[in-house]
Amino acid sequence: MNSTAAPIQARDTAPERQAIIDLSAISHNIAAFASIAAPAKLMAVVKADAYGHGAVPVARTAVAAGAQWLGTAHVSEALALREAGLEVPVLAWLHTPSTDFFAAVAQGIDLGCSGWELQHIAQAARAQERPARIHLKIDTGLGRNGSTMADWDALVAEAIAFQDEGLLRVVGVFSHLAVADEPHRPETDEQLQVFREAVAIAEDAGADLEVRHIANTPGTLSRPDAHFDMVRVGLGIYGLSPFADQTSAQLGLTPAMTLQTRVALCKDVPAGQGVSYGLGYVTADPSTLALIPLGYADGVPRVATGGPVRVNGRTYPVVGRIAMDQMVIDLGPGAHKDFDGAEIPGSALGATAVLFGDGAKGGPVVEQWAAAAGTLNYEVVTRISPRVPRTYVGGPAGTGFDLGELAPADATKCAS
Ligand SMILES: *Cc1c(COP(=O)(O)O)cnc(C)c1O
Repeated sequence: MNSTAAPIQARDTAPERQAIIDLSAISHNIAAFASIAAPAKLMAVVKADAYGHGAVPVARTAVAAGAQWLGTAHVSEALALREAGLEVPVLAWLHTPSTDFFAAVAQGIDLGCSGWELQHIAQAARAQERPARIHLKIDTGLGRNGSTMADWDALVAEAIAFQDEGLLRVVGVFSHLAVADEPHRPETDEQLQVFREAVAIAEDAGADLEVRHIANTPGTLSRPDAHFDMVRVGLGIYGLSPFADQTSAQLGLTPAMTLQTRVALCKDVPAGQGVSYGLGYVTADPSTLALIPLGYADGVPRVATGGPVRVNGRTYPVVGRIAMDQMVIDLGPGAHKDFDGAEIPGSALGATAVLFGDGAKGGPVVEQWAAAAGTLNYEVVTRISPRVPRTYVGGPAGTGFDLGELAPADATKCAS
């Protein structure tokens, strides 16, 4: 009886799988960071499709809510923002010799420069007689991008020579923190000290800096002395915490992404039923299994068995292996009662299944999935795949993503 669906009333068009992006949460988080950072400016980091949230809607919302700058890793990501009509300053900082520096200069994209890029940028500026805007990057300890201190004087001198030629302006000096998510560690102090020295060298050499910047989300939250003229915030604007011991709510942030689907099949099984590839999970008693149509092709980590799924007001761990398209929860013998113990008539077929959201009312959060997968909240949201449609709610008027633009059915569904 459990596996028999109710009679079909009308075509049910509720989305099968969706990542609902609450742009009002983005606005809230942007306002929070703008006020934490002030008088420093706020760069909203929207690389990697805004950590999976959608670069253009997030960028428009962030700018409307008070972010003065946008940041991306790649020039291609920055160009996509320009193509969408965003005209605020955009900085891109990760390049290869294949990067289209010509297009970047043509579109007025600010470019991070660690060394070798300088010649390419100057050439692109010379070819179109348009000065480039560059931010020189110093490696203050992270050991990734950026010039070493040993090469810094030479890089600064070379950049200033190009500036004197009218080919570029050195508008920024920046760096990136390595351990800001662990505020007790001493290396952040050391990085800030090196940063101050690098800034002084650039200014002494003739750089008239608009922005000195080093802080990411954890640095912005835990180190006011790292704010300088601008902070570059990614994770926090999506409402997620960079700290292992502090939740979003404790930081006053609202997670913007809700990942949800609908139960695809609900059936009674006997004791001893194995579940999913490998049959690693076996029911101890007669039970009811619910099939959840999200899997690793949707970006749910395959190793995250045990991750939470909320159905009808209760949260169940995923049992058995997560497959490409689907996974299973065991509703147990009490499956047909809701959170308050009331009988739920019929099957859970079609019930909303939430993997993570804003955590309100005890709902599951992305950090639980990160823990189940042995990774960070950063990775879980960023890897939700393009197979999962994004639905936008709560956008500021005029961004093209305001709630009024959704079909009313979706709007109510998403608002609840
Ligand atoms: C990704 C990135 C950021 C944002 O980091 P969060 O921890 O997400 O705030 C800032 N700066 C650089 C250089 C980055 O690559």
